[in-house]
Amino acid sequence: MPDNIRVRIAPSPTGKFHLGTARTALFNYLFAKRNNGSFILRMEDTDAERSQDQFAKDIIDGLLWLGIGWDEGPEVGGEFGPYYQKERLDKYQVYIDQLLESGAAYKCYCTPEELSVEREKQQKQGLAPKYSGKCRNLSDEQHQQYERDGRTFVIRFKVDPQKVVIDDLIRGKVEYDAGLMGDFVIVRTDGMPLFVFTNTIDDYLMKISHVLRGEEHLPNAAKQILLAEALNFMNPQFGHLPLILNADRSKMSKRKNPVSVTDDYRAKGYLPEALINFLVLLGWSSGTDQEIFSMQELIQEFQIDRVGKSPSIFDPEKLLWMNGYYIRNSDLGKIAHLTQEFITDKELQKEIESDVQRYLQVIALVQDRLKTLADVKSLITFFYRKPEYPASLLIARKSDKQRTEKALTVAERTLREIDQYSVDVTEVSLRKAAQAAELKDGELLWSVRVALSGSEASPGVFELLEIFGKDESLQRIETALKIIKSLRE
Ligand code: GLU
Repeated sequence: MPDNIRVRIAPSPTGKFHLGTARTALFNYLFAKRNNGSFILRMEDTDAERSQDQFAKDIIDGLLWLGIGWDEGPEVGGEFGPYYQKERLDKYQVYIDQLLESGAAYKCYCTPEELSVEREKQQKQGLAPKYSGKCRNLSDEQHQQYERDGRTFVIRFKVDPQKVVIDDLIRGKVEYDAGLMGDFVIVRTDGMPLFVFTNTIDDYLMKISHVLRGEEHLPNAAKQILLAEALNFMNPQFGHLPLILNADRSKMSKRKNPVSVTDDYRAKGYLPEALINFLVLLGWSSGTDQEIFSMQELIQEFQIDRVGKSPSIFDPEKLLWMNGYYIRNSDLGKIAHLTQEFITDKELQKEIESDVQRYLQVIALVQDRLKTLADVKSLITFFYRKPEYPASLLIARKSDKQRTEKALTVAERTLREIDQYSVDVTEVSLRKAAQAAELKDGELLWSVRVALSGSEASPGVFELLEIFGKDESLQRIETALKIIKSLRE
């Protein structure tokens, strides 16, 4: 392992912060932290048409939300900046000129129409399409003629048939036949260098020691090795992380799958620590049964040689479970604070703010049942609003209308007589009353719970009585009595 570990995440801000990018960022971050290295953020925004500032911002916000901070990059700066590629065009030009001068690259004037005719011809002959090399050896006159004709050009990098071997940290030795590659474009007609080129230059200029990124970039690594050779650069050590697939082994896609960290996870009530824990297991394993890891533990335990080659299957159910786990095990105050963001009803917000103590009590009762922070809405509304429910819900299993009416009457009478609504007092009284009235405990408690909450799944009835207190509890039970009485048999 080199002394000076420098890794980076190099997203193209052409879309919102992608789950796959978050995983790549996490692996790089952990690798850097584990080895006392530096983690760099670089925006690869030379594709002016597709890159947008709002996406760069979304990536930055998302990384910070996840707790993946960078040592160099946008906002923090660093020795090797600027960290937005569109501010580095002069640097790329030096190397473009160098490649043109040495003859390793050349201007290609072929039009898109000419290229597509060429491609069709190759396809008809059953050949894999690749650039024919038509403009490789143009004479000075031909160049001048094309320029006089007003043709635009791209710059292509010459690729001679050879074997390219990537010695990949994760995949081992991978061979590419450069003969199939064709001379590839490094600068577009508008003068903008392409990612495969700028990426190589910047990894060199920023002294990147290891390139850890998704497996879909493996073919780019072959191109980058050739570019680095032509420029006399040392190659970084590559490591390509396994693909992330859906359960049916299809590729995760932006259109079909929830892949936006901001919209699909943060805004839906996932905790960053749950997402981190989930993402790290998409490719890495500790080698033990342990599944729950804090960032601190990961920094201590992360080993790149425990990253597997086989595709990782994305299991949304597991993420949901993990999120619930982290919510259950978080401080009450933290969850109370975070859930407030998910209460959209303005009136309700005001009520909560006016009695934060009560909100804490409410959250304490539902915290274990939150799978996402957004679940808060459906779980707490009945604490603040009278519940609505069908009369039939009041009837416990194996009970009937008559018995339910009796249960609610007995409960109402019993509860009217006590003043102290603590859990132990109401429990003893109600159980005793049920027995005396020859009702099953469960039968009576079910009806009271529905009367209070309007729901079949809610916190325990005694906790509810305590939180509502005498007046509110009696009112709700009286309403329930009216509702059950009006039920036609
Ligand atoms: N800009 C490339 C991307 O977003 C970066 C690939 C790399 O990490 O080298 O896919």
